[in-house]
Amino acid sequence: MAYSGAVPDTAARPLDWMDRMACREEDPDMFFAKDRQHEARLICVVRCPVRTECLASVKEAERGAHRDYRDGIVAGLAHNERWRLDVEAIRCKDDTVPLILDGTEPCGTHNALLGHLWRAERIDPECWSAEVRRDRLERATAARTSNPAAAEPAPSEVPLKTAS
Ligand code: SF4
Ligand SMILES: [Zn+2]
Repeated sequence: MAYSGAVPDTAARPLDWMDRMACREEDPDMFFAKDRQHEARLICVVRCPVRTECLASVKEAERGAHRDYRDGIVAGLAHNERWRLDVEAIRCKDDTVPLILDGTEPCGTHNALLGHLWRAERIDPECWSAEVRRDRLERATAARTSNPAAAEPAPSEVPLKTAS
């Protein structure tokens, strides 16, 4: 082959999306602390422009793995949620549409939110509002349980504005 003088394009790397991960600028502990799951999910859903790439990557990396080999929030999904969805995906022999989360769950339920996240879909306001309410309830319950006299006020609702 004759020398053409063309310079090969080496600028684009397969994992360039990692340079744009919103979690790179956040406290890593947030993604592994059980009581900060909602905060981490918020970063993934609202601020991260590469949630789709991140999801594809973690699906591939964890496919078929036991629950104990998964950890933290990734692509908006907690480790046990990814495990549950992966099991369903394998069971129905389709790696994108688990039978129980095939898009027929009504919006506003936790399963509907998980389905959106697993399919890398936009999160609609109804599902996000339900997630915010769920987090408030969990925080209030935890605060009452640990110290009834000093329960923290619920965090303000964060308006939904997705990055992608
Ligand atoms: S989706 Fe979440 S875990 Fe994945 S790169 Fe973005 S911020 Fe990080
Ligand atoms: Zn929904």
